[in-house]
Amino acid sequence: MTSPDSGASSAAALPDYAPIPRSALGPALNEQGYHVGRVERNLYWVTDGVYQAAFLTTPDGVVLFDAPPTIGHNLQRAVDEIAAAEGAPNTVTHLVYSHHHDDHTGAASLFDGDVVRIGHEETRRLLLRDNNPARPAPEVTFADRYTLEVAGERVELAWHGPNHSPDNIYIHFPDHDALMMIDVVNAGWVPIYNLNLSEDVPGYIQAPATALDYPWTHFICGHLGRLATREDVAVHQAYIADIEASAREALTTVNPVPYYMHYGENFWAGVKAHLDTVTERAAAPIIAKYTGVLAAADIEIFTRTTTFAIMQSLRLDSGPSGPVHP
Ligand SMILES: [Zn+2]
Repeated sequence: MTSPDSGASSAAALPDYAPIPRSALGPALNEQGYHVGRVERNLYWVTDGVYQAAFLTTPDGVVLFDAPPTIGHNLQRAVDEIAAAEGAPNTVTHLVYSHHHDDHTGAASLFDGDVVRIGHEETRRLLLRDNNPARPAPEVTFADRYTLEVAGERVELAWHGPNHSPDNIYIHFPDHDALMMIDVVNAGWVPIYNLNLSEDVPGYIQAPATALDYPWTHFICGHLGRLATREDVAVHQAYIADIEASAREALTTVNPVPYYMHYGENFWAGVKAHLDTVTERAAAPIIAKYTGVLAAADIEIFTRTTTFAIMQSLRLDSGPSGPVHP
């Protein structure tokens, strides 16, 4: 029988990690558990320390960008706080979806009534597929580009191909010196498992360069407690490029033959032993190099699974997956 305190004793056995660099942490949260800050002029960002959303106040109402359920009702509290201070209306009239994932959109249904929902056409298709009433599908959709104009404010939405998800878009605020793109770069932190649980590895690797092609100073990346900078994006790119180079080298230097010889007709055991060795060899120097540089780099499973995903993409997307039989 499980005793009630077994959770606590297993928690006590959890590993310790390197301290989080102060530079990776953001401002303190208020009593309700959120922080709202000005990005520039009437563009604001909201965080609960782990997730981020943004909003634009206008004389005609508020344009909200994403609705993470962890921030939930604090989204309207943050809007109310700013609208009261600015003497602006606090009604959310527009909701823009960065992509369809529930952890960034699961509080969308809190904003109902006449709200105009805007997103990529694939976001609409996926939300209709997933059929979750908490995330109503956008009615206003676009394929490549969409200019959102509300009360003289301009926001440029663009889709540059699949990356983290098939529908993940770039949200550019040309008059606020800001870009919002979610779930690719984590400001000051490593990506979690499998390149932030991304579906298209080459698209994910390319996305930061596309983000840097835009002019901006402030980057709303969707996660953790602070905004990102161009330098954060560059450090992320260096981390991924180092993994790519390390995976490529390990693929060419680890000899697979002994692993397949060892397991004989159990081919899958040979595959596992070989690829686990490649992954371990490729990931180890990255974990060492970035511990203390990117927060949580020493949570080895994150860098290992990201390395595994990149290594598989090198084999399957870039190729070759192996020598051609003579
Ligand atoms: Zn996502």
